[in-house]
Amino acid sequence: MSIAENLALVNKDLAGFGARLILVTKMQPVSRLLEAYEAGQRAFGENLAQEMTEKHTQLPPDVEWHFVGHLQSNKVKSVAPYVGMIHSVDSLNLLKEINKQALKNDRIIKCLFQISIADEETKFGLGFDELVLLLRSEEFKALGNVRICGLMGIATNTSILRQIKDEFYELKTFFKSLAESFFQGDANFTELSMGMSGDYKIALEEGSTMVRLGSAIFGKRKKILHEN
Ligand SMILES: *Cc1c(COP(=O)(O)O)cnc(C)c1O
Repeated sequence: MSIAENLALVNKDLAGFGARLILVTKMQPVSRLLEAYEAGQRAFGENLAQEMTEKHTQLPPDVEWHFVGHLQSNKVKSVAPYVGMIHSVDSLNLLKEINKQALKNDRIIKCLFQISIADEETKFGLGFDELVLLLRSEEFKALGNVRICGLMGIATNTSILRQIKDEFYELKTFFKSLAESFFQGDANFTELSMGMSGDYKIALEEGSTMVRLGSAIFGKRKKILHEN
């Protein structure tokens, strides 16, 4: 099936849940991004700063760029002029750097906190308690050029559907409790970025507002050999 056909099928799934598709285009050539763009897709997600910046210069200006991978502080500067949303904020230091670069660009950058929900040590993210401490800090409260829009999480890569469901449920519960405490009355705190190609249907049932899909649209990513 073509990219356009896959997009249409997924969007039909999403419509009933009022969720948005962030099309994860990492490792895909620009020609395939343009194909998705022609089919009407505007929100693209990447996990490497350099790759995103290169693609950004080659796509129309109305593309919304979502950074979904682990972001190193020294890479913030390169994406700050144009990034639409950073899904992967996992420390106060990173958030401070995003704020600093946003200020330099005279922008407000939308951010999600990445929460560690998976049963795997390799996944980045803050623990529930860690985020609460961060939110209480005076340093956080002083940041005027970042807009906190919600939370992101990656479930364990497992075939045990019950476990995936429980992890998404925990994230949604935490999200709701923050919406009623730290973010009470804050109309920006609305996004729950959860669900990838293998588990997005479960994520939708658990209240996801943004699914991040790559292979469900493009097919399996090929392993590429790095030259260096
Ligand atoms: C690669 C990636 C995705 C998309 O993965 P698929 O399984 O291809 O849908 C989603 N989120 C993050 C953070 C990713 O790195």
